[in-house]
Amino acid sequence: MNANTLIPPSDLIVIGGGVSGLTLASRAARAGRAVLVLEAENRVGGCIESWRPMPDFAVELGAHTAYNSYGALLTELEARAGLTGLLPREKAGYFFIENGQTVSPVKRLSFLSLLLHLPFAILRDKTRASVGDYYRRLFGVGNYQRLLAPAFAAVLSQPAEDYPAAWLFRKKPRIKTTPRKYSYMGGLQGMVEAMTTGLSVRTGTPVLGVVRTDTGFMVKTATGELACRHLALATPADVTTRLLGDIYPDLAAALANIEMANIETLAVVVRRAAVHLPKLAGLIGDGAPYFSAVSRDPLAHPDWRGFSFHFRPDLLDAAQKRAAVAQVLGVSEEAFIAVTEKTNRLPRLTVDHVALATQIDAHTRHLPLALVGNYLNGLSIGDCAERAQREAERLMALS
Ligand SMILES: Cc1cc2nc3c(=O)[nH]c(=O)nc-3n(C[C@H](O)[C@H](O)[C@H](O)COP(=O)(O)OP(=O)(O)OC[C@H]3O[C@@H](n4cnc5c(N)ncnc54)[C@H](O)[C@@H]3O)c2cc1C
Repeated sequence: MNANTLIPPSDLIVIGGGVSGLTLASRAARAGRAVLVLEAENRVGGCIESWRPMPDFAVELGAHTAYNSYGALLTELEARAGLTGLLPREKAGYFFIENGQTVSPVKRLSFLSLLLHLPFAILRDKTRASVGDYYRRLFGVGNYQRLLAPAFAAVLSQPAEDYPAAWLFRKKPRIKTTPRKYSYMGGLQGMVEAMTTGLSVRTGTPVLGVVRTDTGFMVKTATGELACRHLALATPADVTTRLLGDIYPDLAAALANIEMANIETLAVVVRRAAVHLPKLAGLIGDGAPYFSAVSRDPLAHPDWRGFSFHFRPDLLDAAQKRAAVAQVLGVSEEAFIAVTEKTNRLPRLTVDHVALATQIDAHTRHLPLALVGNYLNGLSIGDCAERAQREAERLMALS
C-alpha cells in the first residue's frame, strides 16, 4: 500500500460510525487525541436510524428507546452537544394481540407459578446461564413460554432462548437529571448526529482492508490509505472478522463463529384517526411473523401515528408484510401515508460469547487495537457505549 502523504497520521482511526464508534471517538478526542472516524454509509448511526417522512415526525427503523442508565452515552453526548435535545418518552405499555384485541402482558402471568419458583431461584447466579434456562427457573415454564419468551424476543429482535442472561438486563446507576426513557430531536439518529459535533467523521467511506506497519496501522479506503497509531474496529461482528483476517488471524478465527441475524423491518405512517388501537409503546409478536411492532406513540403527534414492524427473516415478501401490518392495525393498505423498509442486522449472541468476550479482552489488553460493538458486552446502546468508553480509556493508557 502507498501511504497518502498529504494526510498526517491520526492517533486513532475508528472504523464504523455507530454508537460504539462514536462513543469511543468522543472519549479519545476529549483526551486530546487526533481521531478520525470512517463510516461506510452516507449517514452515521448504524442500527440507530430514524426515518423522517415528515419534517416533524421521525419513526425509528432500529433502536427506539434510550435510558438514563446509559451513563457512558450521556457523558459523551453531553460533552459534544449538551443534553437539551433529549425528548422524554411518555408512558405507554407493550401488549399482545389476541383475537384482534390488545391484551396486557400481566394477563399472561400466573402468579401462583411465579410464587412457586421465585423464592428458590432468585439468588441463582446468572453469569453462565442462558435467558431460557435462567428465566424458566425464576418464573416457571408456563410463564416463560406464554409471556417471557415472546417478550424477550421482542426486546432482542431475535429468539432469546440462548442469549446470555447476564447481558439481558444489567443494573446500572441511573442519572436522575435526565428523563428515565428518552428519544431525541429528529429521532435517536439526531442523537448520534449530535455526537459527531467537533469530531472528524468521514461518511460514505467503507474501509476495504487494514495492514500493520512499524508505527501502527494503514487503513485502506477506495480513495486512499490512511495511517494511524491506534485502531478501533466498531463494525458489526462479521465485518470485524473480515478486517482482522490479515492483521490478527487468531482474533479473526475466534470471532468467526458469531452468527448474524437479519431482521426485516417495515415501517408505516397512518393518520391518527384511522387506527383504533389504544396508545401503546409496542406489540409483542407471539406466533406472529413479527418479533415486535414498535409504535411511536410515546412521542405523541396530533395527526400521525407511526409503527415499525420487525419481521422474522425469510418468512414474508414485501406484499405479505404490508398486508400483515394492515391487518394488525385494522386499516386498509390505502391508509398508509408513507411506507419504508430496512434490513437490520444484529449478532446472534449465546452464553458462549460471554467467555469469548473475556478471551478477546485478554488477547487485546496490550495491543493498540480496540474491538467494540454489540457482540462483546450486550446489544443495548448503553452496553455498546459502556464498552466503547472503557476501550478508549485502555487505548489512551497505552501511550
Ligand atoms: C430493530 C432494533 C431495535 C433495537 N432497539 C433498541 C433499543 O430500543 N434500545 C437499545 O438500547 N438498543 C436497541 N437496539 C440495539 C442497538 O441499536 C445496537 O446494538 C447498537 O446501536 C449497535 O451499535 P454499534 O455501533 O455497536 O453497531 P452498528 O450500529 O451496527 O454500527 C456499525 C457501523 O459500522 C459501519 N460499517 C460496517 N462496515 C464498515 C466498513 N467496512 N467501513 C466503515 N464502516 C463500516 C456500519 O455502516 C455501521 O454504521 C436495537 C437494534 C435493532 C436492530
